[in-house]
Amino acid sequence: MNNDYVGKKNEEIIKILRKKYNDFIKKYDLYLLMFIGMYDIYINEKNQKLKNSHLDYATFAFKSSIFLRILLQDKSLNKEKSLKFLKKWDSEIITYISDDEVELTSNDALKNYAKDNYDLDTWLKYASNELSLINSEEKFVLTEEIWRDMIIDVENAYNAYVESSESLDLLGSYRKTAKDNSIAALNTSFYAFWLPLVAIIIFGIKFVIELFGDAGIIMNGGWLSFFFFVILLIWVMIGSNGMYCTCSNCHKWNSLQLVSDSVIDSEKYWERKHYMEKNYNNPVHVMVEKSVHEERYVCKHCGNKEIKYRTTKREL
Ligand SMILES: [Zn+2]
Repeated sequence: MNNDYVGKKNEEIIKILRKKYNDFIKKYDLYLLMFIGMYDIYINEKNQKLKNSHLDYATFAFKSSIFLRILLQDKSLNKEKSLKFLKKWDSEIITYISDDEVELTSNDALKNYAKDNYDLDTWLKYASNELSLINSEEKFVLTEEIWRDMIIDVENAYNAYVESSESLDLLGSYRKTAKDNSIAALNTSFYAFWLPLVAIIIFGIKFVIELFGDAGIIMNGGWLSFFFFVILLIWVMIGSNGMYCTCSNCHKWNSLQLVSDSVIDSEKYWERKHYMEKNYNNPVHVMVEKSVHEERYVCKHCGNKEIKYRTTKREL
């Protein structure tokens, strides 16, 4: 993605940004409706006027969320230059926010207003949820890459216009697409799960070898070896949990949050167990309860809802 704004004059920056942004919105406005869940209403609505007002609302709300985020991220030194940038880009939105009597220079006021009305993170979250499955070369299909590049384009225009030492960051953790997240999750699973797991297996093999031969580093290591073993065990457990809670939609590592856990099925039965007692094998029957849990998760990153089933077994 190339930066069209470096070395350009201010008027030119605004001109290019306006054209690129408007072209984008014209092409993909229906996606904005989809992100805020108004797409179905739009499709079923017969009244063309009402349809247009839905579209107007969605495009206005999205642009406002960008404006508010820019104002919020701004360092006080450039506040005036930022405001000038936004006014040149679209003075209507700035007027609208001012008409709501929101103090444009107060971060608290802006934060509250964004939270109640147009929060960019919410848009990015919805987009991440809807777009991560799309991977198409077709025309008019909005992909995560196109979406991300458009927002990066706004960042570039702003950074070139304001010339602040600190760059604007509209995307935050949403700079990464599902594809990027999936590569990152694969890397993390190597260090957080597979590596300690292999170490535990080597530990086990070494232990068995030493058990039948001369004691080596593990048995002679005593408590120190035990300590390392426990560390490895905790490491692998944390890693395994992170892997289990990786979202299947946006692929972000450890992003699923448990919302509810309910037992949907359970059965009790007798199980034969063997206990070694004074070198004598003593079979006993114990009552065991096997339960199937339905766990509902929500992804912190993209809002994706996921259901997982887990079977647990316990002795009664
Ligand atoms: Zn997700």
